[in-house]
Parts: sequence; C-alpha cells; structure tokens
Amino acid sequence: MAGKVHILGAGLSGMVAAITLARKGHEVLVIEGEKRLGGMHHDMPSVHTTPIDPAWMSEQVGIDVRSAFHPIESFVTVVGNRMYELNPGPMHAVERGARKSGIDKLLYDEACEAGVQFEFGTFLKDLREIPPGSIIATGLDPSMYDYLGIPFEITRGFAGTQKTDRAPWAAGLMAPYTKDYFYANCANNLMYGLFFSRGYVKAKTLEACIRDVKEKFDLELHNWEYFTGRVPTGSAKNPRLFQDGYVLAGTLSGAMDPGALFGIHGAILSGRLAAMAVDDPDRALEEFKEMNKCYRISYYLRRFFSHIPGRLAVMDFNIRHPLFSYPMAAITSGAVPGYRKGIWGYEIMKNARRVS
Ligand SMILES: Cc1cc2nc3c(=O)[nH]c(=O)nc-3n(C[C@H](O)[C@H](O)[C@H](O)COP(=O)(O)OP(=O)(O)OC[C@H]3O[C@@H](n4cnc5c(N)ncnc54)[C@H](O)[C@@H]3O)c2cc1C
Repeated sequence: MAGKVHILGAGLSGMVAAITLARKGHEVLVIEGEKRLGGMHHDMPSVHTTPIDPAWMSEQVGIDVRSAFHPIESFVTVVGNRMYELNPGPMHAVERGARKSGIDKLLYDEACEAGVQFEFGTFLKDLREIPPGSIIATGLDPSMYDYLGIPFEITRGFAGTQKTDRAPWAAGLMAPYTKDYFYANCANNLMYGLFFSRGYVKAKTLEACIRDVKEKFDLELHNWEYFTGRVPTGSAKNPRLFQDGYVLAGTLSGAMDPGALFGIHGAILSGRLAAMAVDDPDRALEEFKEMNKCYRISYYLRRFFSHIPGRLAVMDFNIRHPLFSYPMAAITSGAVPGYRKGIWGYEIMKNARRVS
C-alpha cells in the first residue's frame, strides 16, 4: 500500500482528492473542522448554480456526480431596472450541506466506500500537526489564507432560504448597491438566496435587496444569516498548486473564477489534480496551469470593470448584443477553471428576452 495521505477539509475538492487517492491504494485521512458533513454549509443547506457539464465532469474525475446536478429550467436576471429571461445553457443547481440530496453526501458515501477515513471536529490552525505534502482543501475559510500567506479578498453578505416545490430555477440581480450580485436558485424543494459583495454589505443595503427580491422575483426568503469568507482573488498570481511544501486544492488553490466567483467546477477538478500531485507533481502542475490559464486575464478584466462607473450599462449591453461581447464571454467562460465545453457566457445571453 502507498503511504498515508492527510487531507485538510471535507469539502468538494478534499473529498474528490481523497476518493482518487484511496482508489489508487493510498491510506487517506480527511480532517474536517466541523463536527459533521457539509462544511461551511452544514447548518444551513444551500443551493448553488454553476456552469457545468455533469457527464463530462463525472468522466474527468471518475466519480458519477450527475445525480447531484440539476439542469436549470428557467433563468431570469435583473440588471438595474430591466429583467431578462436568459437561456439556462449549461447552468445547473447543486445542493451543498449535510442533507442526503446534496453533493457532499454523494462524495462522502463514495469516499467511505473507497476506504477513506474521516476525523470530524478537528479544526487545525497549525499545519505542523500534519506531514508536509498533505493536501490543504479548506475552501473560503480564513485560517489557511493566513497561515500560508495566500492573497485574498473578503466576501461577505447574507443568505436566506424558503421551502419551494418549484422546478430548478435561477435568478440573478445586479444593482448599484453591490459590487457583486444577488442570486437565488432552487433544487430539492429548497430555495436559497445569497446577497454578497466584495465591498461592505450594510443593513440598509440588505433591506434594499430584500425589497427588490420580493418585488422582482416574488420571493420571501427567511432565516437570513450573515456569511463571510475569503476568495483567492487578491492577486493575478493567485492560482497555485503548491505552497510551503503543501499541496493546495479547491478554492484555496485559486481554482475559482475571479469574476462571478464560480468555485464548484474548479474545486471538483482540482481535487483530482491535488491527488495526482501526490504521485506525479510535474504532470499535476502542468494540468493545473492549463486549467487556470484564463485566470490572469479574467482577473484584470474584473478589476477594470469594478472601477468603471457604467458596470450595469455594460452588462445590459452585453445581454442585448451577445455577439458583440463574444470575446468577453469567451474569457469569462474560460475563467471557470477547467471549463472547456463551449462559450457558456455567450450561450446564456443569446436569445435573451426582455421581460420587463
Ligand atoms: C455561501 C456560498 C455560496 C456560493 N455560491 C456558489 C455558486 O452559486 N456557484 C459556484 O460555482 N460556487 C459558489 N460558491 C463557491 C463554492 O462553493 C466554493 O468555491 C467551493 O465549494 C470550494 O470547494 P472547496 O473544496 O475548496 O471547499 P469547501 O467545499 O468549502 O470545503 C472546505 C472544507 O474545509 C473545512 N475547513 C476549513 N478550514 C479548516 C481547518 N483549518 N481545519 C479543518 N477543516 C477546515 C470546512 O469546514 C469545509 O468543510 C459559494 C460559496 C459559498 C461559501
């Protein structure tokens, strides 16, 4: 049997890495800070939307994740005062958290079957407690950004939920009061909405968002909870597979698109590469660079747009003239780490219909 590998974090990338390594004959121990499965999301199950081809992803990582991803049937977006019905394209909803219907449980069951051991309730602050070469897959939690000196931005906001019997649906809202956006989506009878920003979210801004969400989407989300985390968008050089003798996986490794902050695609794929890095670091590094090759250009594009005043007008123009903004859509699409299944940024905007 190959040597024992320690993995910090039982989230998407950590569990994909664990399954891959265990199947190759490694003894694997996953150490998770929370007392139970579901990571940062265990208290409040959540639904996220992400561009993905689940069949292709399943093939890439050798884990059948198709049942966890639900094609979005209707996708609306509000830009300023205008509402559009977009083409859902490759957008899928996926549930996070501890429930049976979520992807965390699917990966956990697969990991247990492969023989992975888990230690829940151990939140590590000092990496000297695990051997060099261990995989660090701690997502948006601040701890390892500090410990390993990884550049970051802070994201914060509020999330709310509501029961629903609606088919998978997603909505986006871009408004002058956030540098990022609000989104709502549903799957498995759960509606989840997140209002977040890399700037501050003040109480009156949240109130304005809640009013807009009620008025535009007829949603009344409850149980609003504050959320904050770090995202690896502090520098154009963020993506890194190795740091200080450790292997990084998931969002901590920079496998997140720096514009819209889609992190699920990159987290799953980078789990496979972190596992590969244990046995074949050169090949893993090569594939990691390829996976994140659009990061830098997307990083600068986002910085440029966050500083110009007409951000909403540009977005509105893009939706109305998708062919004109095709090059930008291509960058946005490629910036979702590993996404190579077409220009989804264009696909969702072509044939957009103004609703109001
Ligand atoms: C609220 C929210 C909404 C999001 N919405 C979307 C979306 O709609 N679409 C999209 O594509 N992406 C979204 N993302 C981003 C995406 O979820 C993440 O990028 C992705 O889950 C990261 O996967 P990961 O494997 O890196 O980490 P995670 O899946 O977050 O797992 C990290 C794990 O490490 C554990 N951990 C952290 N620190 C320690 C420590 N020191 N010791 C032990 N354990 C530790 C955590 O408890 C957690 O279980 C969202 C993220 C959040 C937080």
